[in-house]
Amino acid sequence: VWDRLQNDLRSIDGQQYGAYKRLLGKYEHASPTFTLSVDHVQGDAYAAPSRVRAIIPWRETGLPDEYLQSDIRRIALCDFVTRVCASMIRAKHLDQNVSGGGGGWSGPKGGAFNINAPGQEILPRTSAMIDGNKTIELRCTVSLPAAGRTVLGQQAYQILGVNLVELVEKSLLYANLDQKKLQLHVQTAENQQSLRQQLGPRKLVAFVANGSILPRASGASESPMDSTNVVPFQSPKDLETTLSLENGTEVSGMGIAKGVTLLTGGGFHGKSTLLEAIQLGVYNHIPGDGRELAVADPTAVKIRAEDGRSVASVDISPFISNLPGGKDTKRFSTDDASGSTSMAANIQEALEAGCKTLLIDEDSSATNLLVRDQRMQSLIQNEPITPLVSKARALHAEHGVSTIIVIGGLGDWLSVADTVIGLESYIPRVLTGEAKAIVQQYPSNVAQTQDYGSLPLRQVQVNLSGLRSPYAVRKHFIALKAETRNVVDDPSEAETGVDISGLDQIVEIGQARTIATFLQKVAGRTARGHMLVSALMDSEAAAMGSDRCLSTSLEGGGLVGVRLTEFAAALSRLRGLHVEAAS
Ligand code: ADP
Ligand code: MG
Repeated sequence: VWDRLQNDLRSIDGQQYGAYKRLLGKYEHASPTFTLSVDHVQGDAYAAPSRVRAIIPWRETGLPDEYLQSDIRRIALCDFVTRVCASMIRAKHLDQNVSGGGGGWSGPKGGAFNINAPGQEILPRTSAMIDGNKTIELRCTVSLPAAGRTVLGQQAYQILGVNLVELVEKSLLYANLDQKKLQLHVQTAENQQSLRQQLGPRKLVAFVANGSILPRASGASESPMDSTNVVPFQSPKDLETTLSLENGTEVSGMGIAKGVTLLTGGGFHGKSTLLEAIQLGVYNHIPGDGRELAVADPTAVKIRAEDGRSVASVDISPFISNLPGGKDTKRFSTDDASGSTSMAANIQEALEAGCKTLLIDEDSSATNLLVRDQRMQSLIQNEPITPLVSKARALHAEHGVSTIIVIGGLGDWLSVADTVIGLESYIPRVLTGEAKAIVQQYPSNVAQTQDYGSLPLRQVQVNLSGLRSPYAVRKHFIALKAETRNVVDDPSEAETGVDISGLDQIVEIGQARTIATFLQKVAGRTARGHMLVSALMDSEAAAMGSDRCLSTSLEGGGLVGVRLTEFAAALSRLRGLHVEAAS
């Protein structure tokens, strides 16, 4: 049966490149039994590469059934398989380049596999997926080889007929996998999920285990900092709490309770590093990451100022009212938000999407939305902003929303904090008592608002008609090309889209692709607030941790799981989003 692939390739050898289209369809391989599905064939050698899937029956892989037992196990297994496949592809290509063919795959220039390579997080991915517990499939791309404009049939067979088989054998057959490593990968993910589930009942919003390695190798690398330079995390005694891993093993670390928590300390003492570990604690990390026992409330959202963003009909009135020109802040819209209005909108949108923990770093905030000190209160009487420091307590009391905020220079926050954690040379200490004493000594009269108001819920009409998506996706920008607009006449319209650079919890470009795919699907629909998204995917699939939302996708192997929150955030940033009045 596999002969058919060889025959097909032989018959088109030397023909025009377009003859590769004949490969579309399925080929059966005998031992191991798997199906090669050629889903897309590139139009020429320089076009986006062809898409193939290798689909293998579960029983053929020899993988233990225990890996099918839960969503998290399936996700972690598929994530692992993707990594094995990606590193094999990388190694083969390196070998080829370095040693001129030694242990690498022979094949002409361009005869390259590619699979969407994962970063530090274990996530649902379309690069490897389990279907109905019956099959597991790998999705990768391949550049079909050409000589000029003609088909190189022999080389193509080497790639698809030989190298692909090796790829399948090495990454999908249990006997060939590093079984201990796989087990650790799955356990690590399960442990994080389990720790995260213990947060709520313990009234915690975050937990960082002792010994965690939080800092990264550099601003440009997400791998852990070299152990020679690093100070491992150590909880202060007062905040130490013990949770248990999946197998019952106890683990101690710092628990951050619900309420208002300040992370403070001198500059360069590790405040932002701790907050970043918490903001990525919504995800499960790979073994060896250093943050694999650092978890956060899964609804936690990093909030930052994002001036210039577009805002569509958001109620920012808890924070801002009486704008000059009588602009309505209950339904605030702008194409170009300021620091403070963007941050207010970011908070309200996060709450709309179900966020119960706000994560804020002074470094990336609009100061005037965080505080207004007494002198400024005296000087400026018609200030439209009520800062977060006046609302954070009400937000917790009325809506159960906690705040973790990094503050180095704004002492007014001391008077509203339940817990003050000071970082000294990367070691946290509890400073709540000292802070209370200082508030007594230097009172600052932070006006407290009793009433936060109700949480926002917009009626959203997404009008994407005439827009194609995705046109081009980068990690920080999703470009949507208008089909109807005349790009030649108006170059400024050549690229419209969604700027998602303000979403600090997007960790992979594949997540941006997922958002882009969903955006296309919601075109023209109407729903209440974030319900829009849930209505779209079945409720289970919408939740992080299930790959079902991805499995229906025909978009190839490049999609990566994303929370509802990030999708809602991207939707809110869509320029031209049409929002109906709430009913
Ligand atoms: P802050 O926000 O308090 O100014 P950062 O979190 O930005 O400080 O950290 C300052 C520097 O210290 C960064 O380069 C970071 O990588 C490094 N760093 C943070 N935590 C640790 C640690 N536990 N051990 C060693 N270096 C660390
Ligand atoms: Mg900082």
